[in-house]
Amino acid sequence: MASIFTKIIHGEISCHKVAETDDYLAFLDINPNAKGHTLCIPKKEIDKIFDLDEVAFHGLMEFSRQVAIALEKAVPCERVGMTVIGLEVPHAHVHLIPLQTMEDARFISKKSMSSEEFEATAKTISSFL
Ligand code: 5GP
Repeated sequence: MASIFTKIIHGEISCHKVAETDDYLAFLDINPNAKGHTLCIPKKEIDKIFDLDEVAFHGLMEFSRQVAIALEKAVPCERVGMTVIGLEVPHAHVHLIPLQTMEDARFISKKSMSSEEFEATAKTISSFL
């Protein structure tokens, strides 16, 4: 069965898109640790990030780097943190999280955002790419 993220890639589930190439997609996490929390994924559905082949892995890292640079310009923060977990969605992804404190990296306290805020945030990040 296709992962939730493959459904997002195919437009069957909506998302607030930040960036897209032929091979990668970045969109806002639906349950963010902090405003601007972004997920970067390969379009090819592979469960575990370290099972990506070398080219796909390095491509995802470079794509994530570019999105992180735009994210740091778009959302005031101390720095952008990068985390890989994958316990919830079995489709490789990188979390990019604007960090103010260590709490923002802990996936415990979540930020509630309106759909207008999600839309405006995605647009602002995209504008820095
Ligand atoms: P992980 O698999 O790394 O533990 O977490 C998966 C992440 O995907 C979570 O932070 C969760 O909020 C996010 N997520 C799960 N389902 C959706 C969805 O349908 N849309 C979006 N934008 N994010 C999702």
